[in-house]
Amino acid sequence: MTPLRGAVYLVGAGPGDPELITLRGLKLLERADVVVHDRLIARELLRRVRSDATVIDVGKSRGVQRLSQEEINRLLVDHARRGHCVVRLKGGDPFVFGRGFEELTACREAGVDCMVIPGVSSAVAAPLAAGIPVTLRGVARSFAVLTTETADNEETAIDGSTLQGLDTLVFLMGRHRLRQVARDLMAAGRDPHTPVACIERATTPHQRVVTGTLADIAEAADRAGLCAPMVAVVGEVAALTHSAPPSALDDEYGSNSPLNHQISPSPLAGKRILITRPRSTARELARRLSEAGATPIVCPMIRIVYPGRNEALDRAIRELHEYCWVVFGSVHGVRAFWRRLAVLGLDARRLGGCKIAAIGPATCRELRRHGVTPDAAPEPGAVEELVNAIIDQGGSDIGRVLFPCSNIARTTLPEALRAAGATVDALIAYSTVNAALSEDALGRIRRGVDSVIFCSPSAVRRFVELRLNAGEALVVCIGSTTADAARDAGLGVDAVAAEHSNEGLIAALSRCFLVEASA
Ligand code: SAH
Repeated sequence: MTPLRGAVYLVGAGPGDPELITLRGLKLLERADVVVHDRLIARELLRRVRSDATVIDVGKSRGVQRLSQEEINRLLVDHARRGHCVVRLKGGDPFVFGRGFEELTACREAGVDCMVIPGVSSAVAAPLAAGIPVTLRGVARSFAVLTTETADNEETAIDGSTLQGLDTLVFLMGRHRLRQVARDLMAAGRDPHTPVACIERATTPHQRVVTGTLADIAEAADRAGLCAPMVAVVGEVAALTHSAPPSALDDEYGSNSPLNHQISPSPLAGKRILITRPRSTARELARRLSEAGATPIVCPMIRIVYPGRNEALDRAIRELHEYCWVVFGSVHGVRAFWRRLAVLGLDARRLGGCKIAAIGPATCRELRRHGVTPDAAPEPGAVEELVNAIIDQGGSDIGRVLFPCSNIARTTLPEALRAAGATVDALIAYSTVNAALSEDALGRIRRGVDSVIFCSPSAVRRFVELRLNAGEALVVCIGSTTADAARDAGLGVDAVAAEHSNEGLIAALSRCFLVEASA
């Protein structure tokens, strides 16, 4: 991997799932001084870039290029000549319809070292993510990868006759040309009944698969509102997709199973699951749902805002030695507290003289991440249990309690503690505010989901306020308070996760889908 400076690395970013970059590609990305990337790369990958690196988006949408190919070439050469380690991050594989060779040539002609790191191409990953093998013993002995566009965005006609004898055809970049391609292939003698599968945004949480035949695929894709980026697979193997109707293949897994679980018998496989909680906590849940084979759709209904200044909490933190207990009611409470500690230049030792309570397993876990093990860990809603735990550990003279909470926290807990003789400072540490949803996000929800997950009454309220409808989707709530809010809002609640954790949610969700499948 030398030299690390003054060189250009053409790195394949993989088809969409950020985990499908190669190890070498990721290592280079983490070292890069300059990253020049395309539109079709997983945005999560940019989080791996050094914070002081320069990131340049040269992505183009159809017909609209931010920089010409010559300008991109020049950019790479200029940065490398300044001694920078330049990573040119390209979707899929750099050499599959990626103009990677042109960039390599430009670097070499300029005397700049250039190395190419291959990537997982959407040409094979997209079919695979839909459960389609591009070759299959006895069915398909060959496959070809084609495009309907040239580098200048000109359309090229498909000469179907040259494709005779090829079993599987994989088309890239062809959404708007799908109808014509299907016609050309039929005109060249392909059977109109030849199966076709179109895979949109393959290997991402937004993956969708539409299937049909050469005769009707364009119609089906239009009906589904299928958009680019999309890969179309033509040939007998296309009938093997998970989203094929049971008659085409006895498919027990449902549709759209993501890549890593397309052969998993998980009850969540292929289920589109809407996560309404704030993005910071949605991420981990989405990851776990993906691992279980589901397609998570993260559309936060609420946002958590940590104030830039918080004099009341700062004062309490400085006077922490006067408090007997600190009660953390949520993950965000813990995060807000540690933010203030950091701002004040302090650390966990400040809590040394206090006993600590954490409500719910996720809050406990968050605290442990900071090296702190709580003295009491009641389940959410178990107010009495918490008060008793506090009395058991410190006697009836509870003293002063700090409760860093949200702007919409309920007063039940502070009131119960006060009734038991405590002096409670319930201080706002963060705010829960309504999230704005993009048209794109609203569209994804309206296109239909199999389940909606609510983790707080505020998310329920926002969902209803946006006039969103759960329709036939299974409604799963974390905890009884959220479930009550959902029922009050007129939503039928199908399951309540007894355990306030991602595991609890996923278990409740799985049970729901199993019951539904056996009904
Ligand atoms: N070098 C890339 C292809 C670049 S051409 C690769 O190897 O994958 C861009 C085309 O690739 C898109 O128009 C689309 O047809 C396809 N494509 C890329 N990523 C995709 C994805 N996640 N889902 C579906 N198609 C994708």
